[in-house]
Amino acid sequence: MRGRALLIISFFLLLQFSGRAGEDVRPQEWIEALQAAPHDSIKTRLLLELSQHYRAKEPDKSINYASLALALAENQDNWGDRHRAIIRLLDVYYHLKYDLSKASEVLTAAQAIPPDQLNALQQASIYGYEGKVQLSLNDYARSQEAFFKQMNIYEQLGDREKVALVNFDLGRLKEAQGDYLTAISFYKSALASYRRVGDRYAEVQTLTALGSAYGKLTDYPRNLEYCREALRLGEHLEDAFLLGQVNYYIGYGYARLESPDSALIYFERALCYGESLDNPWLLANTSNELGLLHRGCNTDEVLSYFQLGLTEAIQSGNQLLEKNLYQSLHQYYADLGQHASAYHFLQRLMAANAQLSNEEQSRQLINTQIKYETEKQHQENQLLRARERENAALIQKQRLQNYGLLVGIHLVLILTFLLYQAFRRKKVYNAELELEVKKRTAELHESNAELVATNAQLAKSNGELERFASIASHDLKAPLRNIVSFLGLIKRKLRAPIPTELNDYFRFATDNAQHMQTLIQDILEFSKIDGTDQQQEAVDLNESLLSVVHNLKETMTEKNGSVEIAPLPVIQANKVQVLQLFQNLIGNGLKYNQNKQPSVVIEHKKEARNHLFSIRDNGIGIDPQYHQQVFDMFKRLHHREEYQGTGIGLSICKKIIDQLEGKIWLESQPGRGTTFFFTVPMN
Ligand code: ADP
Repeated sequence: MRGRALLIISFFLLLQFSGRAGEDVRPQEWIEALQAAPHDSIKTRLLLELSQHYRAKEPDKSINYASLALALAENQDNWGDRHRAIIRLLDVYYHLKYDLSKASEVLTAAQAIPPDQLNALQQASIYGYEGKVQLSLNDYARSQEAFFKQMNIYEQLGDREKVALVNFDLGRLKEAQGDYLTAISFYKSALASYRRVGDRYAEVQTLTALGSAYGKLTDYPRNLEYCREALRLGEHLEDAFLLGQVNYYIGYGYARLESPDSALIYFERALCYGESLDNPWLLANTSNELGLLHRGCNTDEVLSYFQLGLTEAIQSGNQLLEKNLYQSLHQYYADLGQHASAYHFLQRLMAANAQLSNEEQSRQLINTQIKYETEKQHQENQLLRARERENAALIQKQRLQNYGLLVGIHLVLILTFLLYQAFRRKKVYNAELELEVKKRTAELHESNAELVATNAQLAKSNGELERFASIASHDLKAPLRNIVSFLGLIKRKLRAPIPTELNDYFRFATDNAQHMQTLIQDILEFSKIDGTDQQQEAVDLNESLLSVVHNLKETMTEKNGSVEIAPLPVIQANKVQVLQLFQNLIGNGLKYNQNKQPSVVIEHKKEARNHLFSIRDNGIGIDPQYHQQVFDMFKRLHHREEYQGTGIGLSICKKIIDQLEGKIWLESQPGRGTTFFFTVPMN
């Protein structure tokens, strides 16, 4: 037994999976499966299948199963099944039981589902039922609102068939409101859509509705036109109710157009359909019309039609139909002159009218109550949704704050990490730097020590060299003097005239010997400049310069030169060396000068810590590339034949200035004269 049920469940799941309905399964099997179902979600589906199965045959059973399914789905928070159960209940309550109050209750339950739990199609199907139920409750405004919402969804989804369906319902709404023209335009839109999608059944239904609407507008030719077309197309559909309805409306049209024969044919057909279906609405309406049509004929026949109509009207519970038949019977008996019967039906008619108005009133009362309840529920739902939204917003805000906090923490962590890295790098870098500094300092110390040692070595060798130069030049002086004297003696002993060639040799030898004497003299002068045993004193440079000019008098006269001397200070120095310094510089200014009037200008300026002297001439100038080299020993820029000299003069000057801890340099351009500068620190 249980195995079989499980088999059915598997089969059911397979059917669900393949999208087919389980019509092949017997209800008993569904019930067995239901008992064996392991899970509530499967139970819900099985209950919905059972509800579907009993829909047309036993609507109450169908409602029971659907209600159970709804309760189960609510427990599971299963929104999809909850919606399916609701739609099933609405379908049965509205279409089969026509229980508007229950249908309204179900709609209230539907509104409790949060909209975001339903997809657009599910939402639209609920709007559809809301529209239909409100229409039946004569709340046209709400009905229209729901239909428009439904229409909006289908239009957005581009579902033409469904849009046509809503147009049809809106047509019904407008027809109920008595706005037949608008109803017709909705029906026509629906008709066009049904034709496009080829839904023949809906097309026939809409054509019939159009015929009925035109009938209500008393446009009977159009009423007939649409209904006949409906009939032509509907004949193949074999839907007895639809055909019965169409035939009835055609008969109605003909009857109003005073074509009783044609009307009769169609009413009789409608009656046949009504009998085959046992449909009270069709039977009551058609019988009433047939009775009216036969009024001038056989009284029994007329009365039998009216009686049949009345029985069906009573059976259908449709008070309006009942009232119509009382009206017909009252009128007929009155026409026959049977006043008792006429009075009887008049009383019934009045009672029915009273009943109808009472019912209308109580229906309005119920409607108002339902509307109030629904409104209340609606407001509560809205409040709930608003709260949900608030909560969601709060959660979202909290979430955002958390994210912000998280991001902040991450940023701080990253920053800390980066700072730590930087700090570490800096530490390593500092350590390396410290090491490097230590290394460099050690190297510096080492090279300093080397320098000191080298300096000492240099000073020692310089001293030795100077001593050697002094001794050598001193010792060379006497033999050289002898060579010059003996050359003179030899020349005198030779008898005149001395041949020119020999005379040139004598001159050459004497010249060289004399140059050597000068060289030796200069080297001696150079070596004599040694700070250690040089006496320093206050030297008035104005006096020193007078001596210098005096010494150079001959040269000045010879070259037509002049020396201009600005007032000079008194400095601490060695008197002889100062003379030597100025004599060399002024002498060079006059010597290296091709000007017709060679001039030398001596100036002095006081600086913050030094005396600055300048010796400016208007001579031949010196190329900048030699500005340093001229201070080197033996460096000469000219041949002896051009300008006499040994190349020691400026190196002596430099040595003297070095001794005074000053500096010496020059500024010059070839052909633009030369200015020598030197500084002497002030004491
Ligand atoms: P010298 O005994 O040859 O004059 P110095 O040491 O005095 O030796 O000068 C070196 C060289 O510098 C000179 O040979 C000369 O070429 C150049 N010199 C020195 N003073 C001047 C000057 N006032 N104008 C141009 N050239 C000069």
